[in-house]
Amino acid sequence: MIIVVLGPPGAGKGTQSDLLAKELDLPHLSTGDLLREAIANRTPMGRLAQPYMDRGELVPDDVVIALIKERLVQGHPPTGAILDGFPRTVAQGHALNEMLAELGRRVDWVIYLSVPTEELLERITGRYVCPRCAATYHLRGSPPRTPGVCDVCGAALQQRPDDRLDVARRRLTVYFEQTAPLIDFYRRQGVLTEINGEQSIDAVFADELAAIPPRHR
Ligand code: ADP
Ligand code: ADP
Ligand code: ZN
Repeated sequence: MIIVVLGPPGAGKGTQSDLLAKELDLPHLSTGDLLREAIANRTPMGRLAQPYMDRGELVPDDVVIALIKERLVQGHPPTGAILDGFPRTVAQGHALNEMLAELGRRVDWVIYLSVPTEELLERITGRYVCPRCAATYHLRGSPPRTPGVCDVCGAALQQRPDDRLDVARRRLTVYFEQTAPLIDFYRRQGVLTEINGEQSIDAVFADELAAIPPRHR
């Protein structure tokens, strides 16, 4: 099953994708995590992507499309995947449909996490992430057991440079301009489920499990 998790920055895409990946035994593919890894490893792609990410703008379509194609189509294509943060433009949505069609596959299900803007800024500015294993915490909502230390792997937690208020605001604007049109794009394809993301992490997850399309249960 190919699942796309769609929603604004801070909606809980990463958090819910992790839970779904465990529950459904599917790989979790986050373009944001892959790009941050490329930056940390100082690869040419990382060097290209960093200035866009620092400004809160989208990395060019061809770069992220190639990144996803590498994982989804080339070599041994996985039987399914949870796509977190891809697609983020309608052009990326078309590219995804085309690469899946080559494999005789399609996007099976899109989860759209809707959360009001004020809540998004509160979530983004309180977010702490693990640079080693990408686990995500929140200063108040879901703090680690030991302050500043990852529960999963013990690494020192960090704040993302693009989670500062000014960059976060820019990311939200970019989301409304370039990513939100994907809501209608997938609604028209009949694969979109809107989930109320303004609930506890467990309640959001329970709503998702209850909404899995019947033929995939
Ligand atoms: P995204 O991947 O959409 O940017 P994250 O999953 O990283 O979002 O979540 C953003 C921040 O909000 C993190 O600090 C996370 O711990 C927190 N968070 C995630 N889901 C919820 C929720 N349902 N309620 C409150 N805080 C949440
Ligand atoms: P969030 O969901 O909190 O916005 P992500 O980790 O998904 O954060 O993305 C962080 C940044 O990585 C984005 O602001 C953008 O610069 C870049 N990025 C991630 N995915 C894409 C994509 N599909 N297309 C273009 N840029 C992307
Ligand atoms: Zn960790």
